[in-house]
Amino acid sequence: MNITHRAGLENFPPYRQGKAPRAVDGLEAFKLSSNENPYPPLPSVVEAVAGAVSSINLYPEIAAEELRGAIASRWAVSPDNIALGAGSVEVASQIILAVTNPGDQVMFAWRSFEAYPLLATTAGAEPQPIPLAEDGGHDLHAMASAVTPRTRVIFLCNPNNPTGTVLSAAAVDSFISSVPADVLVVLDEAYVHFNRDADTAVGIEMFRKYPNVAVLHTFSKAYGLAGLRLGYAIAGPELVVNLQKVAVPFGVTSLAQQAGLASLLAEDELQERIDVLVTERRRVYDALLAAGLPVLASEANFLWLDSRDRTGALAALFEENALSVRVFPNEGIRITIGAPVANNRILTVARQAAALLA
Ligand code: PMP
Repeated sequence: MNITHRAGLENFPPYRQGKAPRAVDGLEAFKLSSNENPYPPLPSVVEAVAGAVSSINLYPEIAAEELRGAIASRWAVSPDNIALGAGSVEVASQIILAVTNPGDQVMFAWRSFEAYPLLATTAGAEPQPIPLAEDGGHDLHAMASAVTPRTRVIFLCNPNNPTGTVLSAAAVDSFISSVPADVLVVLDEAYVHFNRDADTAVGIEMFRKYPNVAVLHTFSKAYGLAGLRLGYAIAGPELVVNLQKVAVPFGVTSLAQQAGLASLLAEDELQERIDVLVTERRRVYDALLAAGLPVLASEANFLWLDSRDRTGALAALFEENALSVRVFPNEGIRITIGAPVANNRILTVARQAAALLA
């Protein structure tokens, strides 16, 4: 007899990883489909990880006190305000597990980070997607009026994946004051380091102002540690205690803890790389716009082509040029900003697209 599985899983889609690029004759292939950092890890980070390798016969320190202390100092909060996870996606999962009962609702803009509905469903909660506004940003008015007594947590992705749009401080402030105080508002700032819009809501400021706010940060993007899996929440101490209860024990490895500590010490060096990526984002944005493509202004390390029914034709051009990008059929294409050599190839695609669309 076969074992029985949880009902509904047969129709449940697994998380979709960005495609690896397919080589094309004579062209080096580049992966621009997962918002990864194109730079290899810093030597100081590699050294810290290497130094920890000889102890991997031992379990990591579950409380990760040193790393939580370092992150807390970075934000001038208490270590009791810091919860860690194997990537911020795991922390988002912990949050949903800690605040929802079966059947409760988890609200987020849609389209946004693809894991939100998956994590909500696996936790036994109900995803509550609210369509983005026509300009690709969150429709905060629609979100505020869609809150029900079953809404327990609201994710605001700022900058938003995949559109790159940001929310203003004033808009987020009035949104948070308008939702019931027992609903948790999570500001997911996975891409915050790439934001150059001074008017944008800042998670830590909202956290200091409102007890029902938590902030999500990751070491995967600006810090370039996607393969090691490290993210954290800044949250109230009661929530942090409960996040630790629902976390998978030992999910944050000793290597990730050391890499996180070394990265916090190397923020100036990392900043130089971030600045290059932001300059590159502007260069690619200008070229896509000049080619007549429907590109949105972005504050993240990727650009969104709002290409709708032209998505298939444009996706084919990227593929022919050995670039893998994230394609959302009939919606749009998300292109990660890579190293300059990869970005030059996006410019080639832009020129070909202009000719195709002319
Ligand atoms: N939040 C957003 C908005 C993301 O786009 C991602 C990764 N794509 C994450 C969270 C999770 O990143 P990680 O688990 O690597 O920290």
